[in-house]
Amino acid sequence: MSVSRADASSSNPSLRAPRLQRELLFGFGLLTAAAVSLAVLSALVAQLVPPRLAAAVLVLLVVADVGVVFVFARHLIHKFVLMPLSELDEATREVAAGDLDVQVPIPETREFAELAVRFNEMTARLQETQDQLLRAEKLASIGRLAAGIAHEIGNPLAAIGNYVALIEKRGAEPESLDTIKSELRRIDRIVRDLLAYARTESGSKQKIDLTVLTSGVLERLRRQGAVDGVDLRFREPEEDLSVIGQPHQLEQVFTNLILNAAHAAAHGVVEIELETGVPRAPQLLASSSGILVRIGDSGPGVPVEHRERVFDPFFTTKDPGSGTGLGLAIVHRLVHEHGGLIWVSESKLGGALFNIFLPRAT
Ligand code: ADP
Repeated sequence: MSVSRADASSSNPSLRAPRLQRELLFGFGLLTAAAVSLAVLSALVAQLVPPRLAAAVLVLLVVADVGVVFVFARHLIHKFVLMPLSELDEATREVAAGDLDVQVPIPETREFAELAVRFNEMTARLQETQDQLLRAEKLASIGRLAAGIAHEIGNPLAAIGNYVALIEKRGAEPESLDTIKSELRRIDRIVRDLLAYARTESGSKQKIDLTVLTSGVLERLRRQGAVDGVDLRFREPEEDLSVIGQPHQLEQVFTNLILNAAHAAAHGVVEIELETGVPRAPQLLASSSGILVRIGDSGPGVPVEHRERVFDPFFTTKDPGSGTGLGLAIVHRLVHEHGGLIWVSESKLGGALFNIFLPRAT
């Protein structure tokens, strides 16, 4: 994904600070005026004192004059140049030592304030990138583990399924068999989710019209009765919103999110919006224009403390047996494989709002 950034300077009031040149010129102007006044005063005083003391008084006044100019000039340079530089220098050292949390205070003049804001943006982005790398690494190792477990469980599971079918044919008690079959289906779902999560190959990609894809997913879910009783709203955008991707994977992303929203909203509202725009994600690395997908619902929403964790594998708030906690982990992985970002916020409908940013097909 192409990376650029929003112009923070326009929104940061500290960058309306006066220019360094103006502050220095003003300060030194004042200093020169004071020095000239002192010189004139010295000349006048020298005339008033007896002639034998005049030379000594003059020397004293000139020394005082130079001293005042020196102290004030030093103060000006320290305040407007040296102090901001030393703060920046100290912060750079901390970053070099690995502390990316560091933020430099914003100095009083515009040039240094801009530098400080850029520096703070840079450290924030470095921190975000590092967090994302750690997260990707963590997810990749969980993915490898999941693939191994799913593979090991898959074969015995198929064998048990065959034996259950055999016992059924021989006329075993149907109630117990139903329980075994339902538990087998549950394990099978977990194994399939694990495999879906662990799958890394992305397959061939093509141009996909997201409006067509969304309508297709909604139609299928309606036909299957998976969204019965939910007020599903999708206003089709007029412009062509296409991405480059794998249709099955993106269908899975939309299906998982819409099913989650429908489940959370119960008999409430689920709204899907597509538009072009710039992402405003908390973990934002990009501000280039692309496609924004928003799936909002009128359910209870996702509490702030869960907004990162909901994308972790096996994170679920559902009762044991009802959720595997893999749905959003799969979605997260697939969105990232498409060069996109996903984050959760609050919907205007009162519940959760899942936001996806995808680069636009060119
Ligand atoms: P599962 O649905 O199996 O729990 P997911 O990965 O799909 O797994 O979701 C993880 C958790 O995220 C859910 O248990 C729920 O707490 C939360 N969640 C997901 N979607 C929503 C939503 N639309 N509204 C509120 N919470 C949600």
